[in-house]
Amino acid sequence: AGLSLTLAACGQSANGVGDDAAKSAGSAKGGLVGIAMPTKSSERWINDGNNIAKEFQAKGYKTDLQYGDNVVENQVSQLENMITKGAKLLVIGAIDGSSLTNVLQKAADAKIPVISYDRLIRGTKNVDYYATFDNFKVGVLQGSYIVDKLGLKDGKGPFNLELFAGSPDDNNANFFFNGAMSVLKPYIDDKKLVVQSGQTAFNQVATLRWDGGLAQSRMDNLLSKSYTSASVDAVLSPYDGISIGIISSLKGVGYGSGKKLPIVTGQDGELASVKSIIAGEQTQTVYKDTRELAKVAVQMGDALLTGGKPEVNDTTQYENGAKTVPAYLLQPVSVDKENYQKVLIDGGQYTADQVK
Ligand code: BGC
Repeated sequence: AGLSLTLAACGQSANGVGDDAAKSAGSAKGGLVGIAMPTKSSERWINDGNNIAKEFQAKGYKTDLQYGDNVVENQVSQLENMITKGAKLLVIGAIDGSSLTNVLQKAADAKIPVISYDRLIRGTKNVDYYATFDNFKVGVLQGSYIVDKLGLKDGKGPFNLELFAGSPDDNNANFFFNGAMSVLKPYIDDKKLVVQSGQTAFNQVATLRWDGGLAQSRMDNLLSKSYTSASVDAVLSPYDGISIGIISSLKGVGYGSGKKLPIVTGQDGELASVKSIIAGEQTQTVYKDTRELAKVAVQMGDALLTGGKPEVNDTTQYENGAKTVPAYLLQPVSVDKENYQKVLIDGGQYTADQVK
Protein backbone atom coordinates (compact mmCIF):
# COMPACT_ATOMS: atom_id res chain seq x y z
CA ALA A 1 0.00 0.00 0.00
CA GLY A 2 2.86 2.32 0.88
CA LEU A 3 4.48 1.72 -2.51
CA SER A 4 1.36 2.34 -4.58
CA LEU A 5 0.62 5.50 -2.58
CA THR A 6 4.09 6.83 -3.30
CA LEU A 7 3.81 6.01 -6.96
CA ALA A 8 0.34 7.53 -7.19
CA ALA A 9 1.70 10.71 -5.66
CA CYS A 10 4.33 10.81 -8.43
CA GLY A 11 1.59 10.54 -11.03
CA GLN A 12 2.36 6.87 -11.75
CA SER A 13 0.52 3.80 -10.73
CA ALA A 14 1.66 0.32 -9.78
CA ASN A 15 -1.54 -1.49 -10.61
CA GLY A 16 -4.04 0.92 -12.03
CA VAL A 17 -5.62 1.66 -8.63
CA GLY A 18 -5.19 5.34 -7.94
CA ASP A 19 -4.93 6.32 -11.59
CA ASP A 20 -7.85 8.73 -11.29
CA ALA A 21 -6.47 10.37 -8.21
CA ALA A 22 -3.09 10.70 -9.85
CA LYS A 23 -4.61 12.17 -13.00
CA SER A 24 -6.72 14.72 -11.24
CA ALA A 25 -3.84 15.65 -8.96
CA GLY A 26 -1.61 16.01 -11.99
CA SER A 27 -4.05 18.26 -13.84
CA ALA A 28 -5.08 20.21 -10.75
CA LYS A 29 -1.56 21.49 -10.14
CA GLY A 30 -1.42 24.68 -12.15
CA GLY A 31 -5.22 24.68 -12.60
CA LEU A 32 -7.57 27.58 -12.02
CA VAL A 33 -8.17 28.76 -8.43
CA GLY A 34 -11.29 30.83 -7.80
CA ILE A 35 -10.82 33.47 -5.10
CA ALA A 36 -14.02 35.14 -3.88
CA MET A 37 -13.51 38.07 -1.49
CA PRO A 38 -16.33 40.03 0.17
CA THR A 39 -15.65 43.69 -0.56
CA LYS A 40 -13.17 46.30 -1.68
CA SER A 41 -14.55 48.83 0.77
CA SER A 42 -12.01 47.71 3.33
CA GLU A 43 -8.29 47.63 2.69
CA ARG A 44 -7.72 44.34 4.35
CA TRP A 45 -9.76 42.38 1.81
CA ILE A 46 -7.96 44.05 -1.09
CA ASN A 47 -4.67 42.93 0.46
CA ASP A 48 -6.06 39.46 1.15
CA GLY A 49 -7.20 38.97 -2.45
CA ASN A 50 -3.94 40.22 -3.93
CA ASN A 51 -1.82 38.18 -1.55
CA ILE A 52 -3.72 34.95 -2.19
CA ALA A 53 -3.60 35.42 -5.97
CA LYS A 54 0.12 36.24 -5.89
CA GLU A 55 0.97 33.19 -3.76
CA PHE A 56 -1.02 30.79 -5.94
CA GLN A 57 0.52 32.26 -9.09
CA ALA A 58 3.99 31.81 -7.62
CA LYS A 59 3.16 28.11 -7.34
CA GLY A 60 2.12 27.99 -10.98
CA TYR A 61 -1.67 28.24 -10.62
CA LYS A 62 -4.01 30.45 -12.61
CA THR A 63 -6.31 32.62 -10.52
CA ASP A 64 -9.69 34.28 -10.84
CA LEU A 65 -10.06 36.94 -8.13
CA GLN A 66 -13.53 38.48 -7.61
CA TYR A 67 -15.02 40.89 -5.08
CA GLY A 68 -18.70 40.70 -4.16
CA ASP A 69 -19.29 44.32 -3.15
CA ASN A 70 -20.89 43.10 0.07
CA VAL A 71 -23.89 41.85 -1.93
CA VAL A 72 -24.60 38.16 -1.31
CA GLU A 73 -26.13 37.55 -4.78
CA ASN A 74 -22.99 38.92 -6.45
CA GLN A 75 -20.81 36.52 -4.54
CA VAL A 76 -23.06 33.57 -5.34
CA SER A 77 -22.99 34.31 -9.08
CA GLN A 78 -19.23 34.88 -9.01
CA LEU A 79 -18.83 31.42 -7.46
CA GLU A 80 -21.16 29.90 -10.05
CA ASN A 81 -19.02 31.41 -12.79
CA MET A 82 -15.85 30.01 -11.28
CA ILE A 83 -17.43 26.55 -11.18
CA THR A 84 -18.52 26.87 -14.83
CA LYS A 85 -15.03 27.99 -15.85
CA GLY A 86 -13.62 24.78 -14.41
CA ALA A 87 -11.98 26.06 -11.22
CA LYS A 88 -10.15 23.28 -9.35
CA LEU A 89 -10.42 25.00 -5.97
CA LEU A 90 -12.46 27.77 -4.34
CA VAL A 91 -11.10 30.08 -1.65
CA ILE A 92 -13.96 32.06 -0.16
CA GLY A 93 -14.12 35.04 2.20
CA ALA A 94 -17.90 34.92 2.64
CA ILE A 95 -20.14 37.98 2.75
CA ASP A 96 -22.87 36.09 4.59
CA GLY A 97 -21.49 32.86 6.00
CA SER A 98 -24.83 31.04 5.83
CA SER A 99 -25.93 31.84 2.29
CA LEU A 100 -23.63 29.64 0.23
CA THR A 101 -25.24 26.23 0.77
CA ASN A 102 -26.70 25.88 -2.75
CA VAL A 103 -23.70 27.09 -4.69
CA LEU A 104 -21.37 24.93 -2.59
CA GLN A 105 -23.51 21.91 -3.39
CA LYS A 106 -22.75 22.64 -7.06
CA ALA A 107 -19.05 22.86 -6.19
CA ALA A 108 -19.26 19.52 -4.39
CA ASP A 109 -21.06 17.92 -7.37
CA ALA A 110 -18.16 19.09 -9.54
CA LYS A 111 -15.69 17.75 -6.91
CA ILE A 112 -14.22 21.18 -6.25
CA PRO A 113 -12.73 21.53 -2.77
CA VAL A 114 -13.50 24.66 -0.77
CA ILE A 115 -11.39 26.65 1.67
CA SER A 116 -13.24 28.97 3.98
CA TYR A 117 -11.06 32.05 4.23
CA ASP A 118 -10.98 34.12 7.42
CA ARG A 119 -14.78 33.82 7.94
CA LEU A 120 -16.40 30.46 8.63
CA ILE A 121 -18.89 29.23 6.02
CA ARG A 122 -21.84 27.86 7.94
CA GLY A 123 -24.60 25.32 7.46
CA THR A 124 -22.97 23.05 4.86
CA LYS A 125 -20.72 20.01 4.86
CA ASN A 126 -19.21 21.22 1.59
CA VAL A 127 -16.39 23.18 3.11
CA ASP A 128 -13.11 21.36 3.53
CA TYR A 129 -10.72 23.56 5.47
CA TYR A 130 -10.71 26.88 7.30
CA ALA A 131 -7.81 29.35 7.29
CA THR A 132 -8.22 32.07 9.90
CA PHE A 133 -6.89 33.82 13.00
CA ASP A 134 -7.65 33.02 16.60
CA ASN A 135 -10.85 35.05 16.49
CA PHE A 136 -11.77 34.72 20.18
CA LYS A 137 -8.30 36.02 21.01
CA VAL A 138 -8.92 39.13 18.85
CA GLY A 139 -11.77 40.04 21.21
CA VAL A 140 -9.71 39.20 24.28
CA LEU A 141 -6.99 41.59 23.06
CA GLN A 142 -9.56 44.38 22.57
CA GLY A 143 -11.24 43.82 25.95
CA SER A 144 -7.93 43.50 27.81
CA TYR A 145 -6.67 46.70 26.25
CA ILE A 146 -9.62 48.61 27.68
CA VAL A 147 -9.19 47.02 31.12
CA ASP A 148 -5.44 47.76 31.20
CA LYS A 149 -5.64 51.32 29.91
CA LEU A 150 -8.40 52.30 32.33
CA GLY A 151 -6.40 50.84 35.23
CA LEU A 152 -9.30 48.64 36.29
CA LYS A 153 -6.93 46.06 37.73
CA ASP A 154 -5.53 48.77 40.04
CA GLY A 155 -9.03 49.32 41.36
CA LYS A 156 -9.77 52.48 39.35
CA GLY A 157 -13.31 53.21 38.18
CA PRO A 158 -16.18 53.25 37.64
CA PHE A 159 -15.93 54.19 33.96
CA ASN A 160 -18.48 54.51 31.17
CA LEU A 161 -18.18 52.03 28.30
CA GLU A 162 -20.17 51.49 25.12
CA LEU A 163 -20.07 48.33 23.04
CA PHE A 164 -20.08 47.70 19.30
CA ALA A 165 -20.00 44.35 17.51
CA GLY A 166 -19.57 43.33 13.88
CA SER A 167 -21.97 41.93 11.31
CA PRO A 168 -24.45 39.35 12.60
CA ASP A 169 -24.09 37.27 9.41
CA ASP A 170 -20.34 36.89 10.01
CA ASN A 171 -19.42 34.08 12.39
CA ASN A 172 -16.30 36.01 13.40
CA ALA A 173 -18.38 38.82 14.87
CA ASN A 174 -19.64 36.52 17.62
CA PHE A 175 -16.17 35.23 18.36
CA PHE A 176 -14.77 38.77 18.64
CA PHE A 177 -17.63 39.91 20.87
CA ASN A 178 -17.54 36.84 23.09
CA GLY A 179 -13.77 37.15 23.45
CA ALA A 180 -14.04 40.80 24.47
CA MET A 181 -16.94 40.16 26.83
CA SER A 182 -15.06 37.31 28.51
CA VAL A 183 -12.75 40.08 29.79
CA LEU A 184 -15.21 42.99 30.18
CA LYS A 185 -18.26 41.31 31.67
CA PRO A 186 -16.88 40.75 35.17
CA TYR A 187 -16.22 44.52 35.42
CA ILE A 188 -19.69 45.30 34.05
CA ASP A 189 -21.20 42.93 36.62
CA ASP A 190 -19.16 44.68 39.36
CA LYS A 191 -20.33 48.10 38.09
CA LYS A 192 -16.72 49.14 37.52
CA LEU A 193 -17.71 49.50 33.87
CA VAL A 194 -21.10 51.09 33.26
CA VAL A 195 -22.86 50.84 29.91
CA GLN A 196 -25.08 53.93 30.18
CA SER A 197 -27.19 52.96 27.15
CA GLY A 198 -27.95 49.58 28.72
CA GLN A 199 -27.15 47.94 25.37
CA THR A 200 -24.97 44.93 26.14
CA ALA A 201 -26.47 42.08 24.08
CA PHE A 202 -24.83 41.12 20.78
CA ASN A 203 -27.97 41.81 18.74
CA GLN A 204 -28.31 45.30 20.28
CA VAL A 205 -24.76 46.30 19.43
CA ALA A 206 -24.13 44.48 16.10
CA THR A 207 -23.32 46.45 12.92
CA LEU A 208 -24.68 44.99 9.68
CA ARG A 209 -21.91 44.43 7.09
CA TRP A 210 -19.41 46.16 9.39
CA ASP A 211 -20.67 49.51 8.06
CA GLY A 212 -18.79 52.47 9.58
CA GLY A 213 -21.62 54.86 8.67
CA LEU A 214 -24.15 52.74 10.56
CA ALA A 215 -21.85 52.67 13.56
CA GLN A 216 -21.50 56.43 13.40
CA SER A 217 -25.29 56.94 13.51
CA ARG A 218 -25.64 54.50 16.37
CA MET A 219 -22.92 56.38 18.28
CA ASP A 220 -24.74 59.69 17.55
CA ASN A 221 -27.86 58.18 19.12
CA LEU A 222 -26.02 56.86 22.14
CA LEU A 223 -24.38 60.22 22.75
CA SER A 224 -27.59 62.19 22.49
CA LYS A 225 -29.64 59.79 24.60
CA SER A 226 -27.25 58.63 27.31
CA TYR A 227 -24.36 61.10 27.47
CA THR A 228 -25.82 64.56 27.84
CA SER A 229 -24.10 64.88 31.21
CA ALA A 230 -21.99 61.71 31.52
CA SER A 231 -18.95 61.21 29.31
CA VAL A 232 -17.74 58.12 27.48
CA ASP A 233 -14.45 56.64 28.74
CA ALA A 234 -14.08 53.66 26.42
CA VAL A 235 -15.68 52.15 23.34
CA LEU A 236 -15.28 48.53 22.32
CA SER A 237 -15.04 48.61 18.54
CA PRO A 238 -14.49 45.38 16.61
CA TYR A 239 -13.09 46.84 13.38
CA ASP A 240 -11.14 49.91 12.24
CA GLY A 241 -13.84 51.10 9.80
CA ILE A 242 -16.31 51.11 12.70
CA SER A 243 -13.78 52.86 14.97
CA ILE A 244 -13.39 55.69 12.44
CA GLY A 245 -17.20 56.15 12.39
CA ILE A 246 -17.37 56.17 16.18
CA ILE A 247 -14.57 58.73 16.43
CA SER A 248 -16.26 61.06 13.90
CA SER A 249 -19.40 60.94 15.97
CA LEU A 250 -17.48 61.69 19.19
CA LYS A 251 -15.62 64.58 17.58
CA GLY A 252 -18.95 65.95 16.39
CA VAL A 253 -19.95 66.61 20.01
CA GLY A 254 -16.64 68.00 21.19
CA TYR A 255 -14.53 65.00 22.15
CA GLY A 256 -10.95 65.50 21.05
CA SER A 257 -11.18 69.27 21.44
CA GLY A 258 -11.47 70.09 25.12
CA LYS A 259 -13.12 66.81 26.11
CA LYS A 260 -10.74 63.83 26.09
CA LEU A 261 -11.49 61.16 23.48
CA PRO A 262 -12.31 57.79 25.01
CA ILE A 263 -10.23 54.67 24.48
CA VAL A 264 -11.38 53.22 21.15
CA THR A 265 -10.26 49.77 20.04
CA GLY A 266 -10.24 48.40 16.48
CA GLN A 267 -9.05 45.65 14.19
CA ASP A 268 -7.04 45.14 11.00
CA GLY A 269 -4.41 47.87 11.27
CA GLU A 270 -5.90 49.74 8.30
CA LEU A 271 -3.90 52.72 7.15
CA ALA A 272 -6.49 55.33 8.17
CA SER A 273 -6.60 53.86 11.65
CA VAL A 274 -2.84 53.63 11.99
CA LYS A 275 -2.68 57.32 11.13
CA SER A 276 -5.46 58.00 13.62
CA ILE A 277 -3.53 56.09 16.30
CA ILE A 278 -0.38 58.10 15.59
CA ALA A 279 -2.47 61.29 15.78
CA GLY A 280 -3.75 60.23 19.21
CA GLU A 281 -7.38 59.61 18.21
CA GLN A 282 -8.06 55.88 17.81
CA THR A 283 -6.24 54.10 20.63
CA GLN A 284 -5.65 50.55 19.53
CA THR A 285 -6.09 48.11 16.67
CA VAL A 286 -5.65 44.37 16.40
CA TYR A 287 -3.35 43.56 13.53
CA LYS A 288 -3.72 40.37 11.55
CA ASP A 289 -1.04 39.77 8.96
CA THR A 290 -2.95 38.93 5.77
CA ARG A 291 0.29 37.93 4.06
CA GLU A 292 0.55 35.05 6.51
CA LEU A 293 -3.12 34.13 6.14
CA ALA A 294 -2.74 34.01 2.36
CA LYS A 295 0.19 31.61 2.81
CA VAL A 296 -1.92 29.36 5.02
CA ALA A 297 -4.73 29.26 2.44
CA VAL A 298 -2.29 28.52 -0.37
CA GLN A 299 -0.57 25.79 1.66
CA MET A 300 -3.99 24.19 2.21
CA GLY A 301 -5.07 24.60 -1.40
CA ASP A 302 -1.85 23.33 -2.90
CA ALA A 303 -1.93 20.29 -0.63
CA LEU A 304 -5.54 19.55 -1.60
CA LEU A 305 -4.76 19.79 -5.30
CA THR A 306 -1.64 17.67 -5.24
CA GLY A 307 -2.83 14.81 -3.07
CA GLY A 308 -1.17 16.09 0.12
CA LYS A 309 -2.68 16.87 3.51
CA PRO A 310 -3.29 20.47 4.59
CA GLU A 311 -1.67 21.43 7.86
CA VAL A 312 -4.15 22.35 10.62
CA ASN A 313 -3.81 23.32 14.29
CA ASP A 314 -7.43 23.36 15.44
CA THR A 315 -10.02 20.64 14.96
CA THR A 316 -12.52 21.53 17.68
CA GLN A 317 -13.54 25.21 17.72
CA TYR A 318 -15.18 25.77 14.37
CA GLU A 319 -18.43 23.82 14.26
CA ASN A 320 -20.44 25.25 11.36
CA GLY A 321 -23.81 23.63 12.01
CA ALA A 322 -23.10 20.71 9.67
CA LYS A 323 -19.53 19.70 10.58
CA THR A 324 -16.51 20.80 12.53
CA VAL A 325 -14.20 22.37 9.97
CA PRO A 326 -10.50 21.62 10.45
CA ALA A 327 -8.72 24.96 10.80
CA TYR A 328 -5.38 26.63 10.91
CA LEU A 329 -5.38 29.62 13.28
CA LEU A 330 -2.84 32.41 13.19
CA GLN A 331 -2.17 34.75 16.10
CA PRO A 332 -3.48 38.35 16.15
CA VAL A 333 -1.36 41.16 17.66
CA SER A 334 -2.51 44.19 19.66
CA VAL A 335 -1.08 47.42 18.24
CA ASP A 336 -1.07 50.95 19.65
CA LYS A 337 1.11 54.05 19.60
CA GLU A 338 3.85 52.24 21.55
CA ASN A 339 4.45 49.34 19.18
CA TYR A 340 3.11 50.30 15.73
CA GLN A 341 6.63 51.11 14.55
CA LYS A 342 7.94 47.68 15.46
CA VAL A 343 4.94 45.64 14.30
CA LEU A 344 3.74 47.52 11.23
CA ILE A 345 6.73 49.41 9.89
CA ASP A 346 9.61 47.11 10.82
CA GLY A 347 7.26 44.19 10.00
CA GLY A 348 6.93 45.52 6.45
CA GLN A 349 3.18 46.11 6.37
CA TYR A 350 3.64 49.84 5.76
CA THR A 351 6.54 52.15 4.99
CA ALA A 352 7.28 55.03 7.36
CA ASP A 353 6.16 57.43 4.59
CA GLN A 354 2.77 55.76 4.21
CA VAL A 355 1.77 56.38 7.82
CA LYS A 356 2.82 60.05 7.84
C1 BGC B 1 -12.60 39.94 9.68
C2 BGC B 1 -12.03 41.20 10.26
C3 BGC B 1 -12.64 42.41 9.57
C4 BGC B 1 -14.13 42.30 9.45
C5 BGC B 1 -14.70 43.40 8.61
C6 BGC B 1 -14.08 39.98 9.72
O1 BGC B 1 -14.61 38.80 9.24
O2 BGC B 1 -12.09 38.84 10.39
O3 BGC B 1 -10.65 41.22 10.12
O4 BGC B 1 -12.36 43.54 10.34
O5 BGC B 1 -14.51 41.06 8.92
O6 BGC B 1 -14.20 43.34 7.31
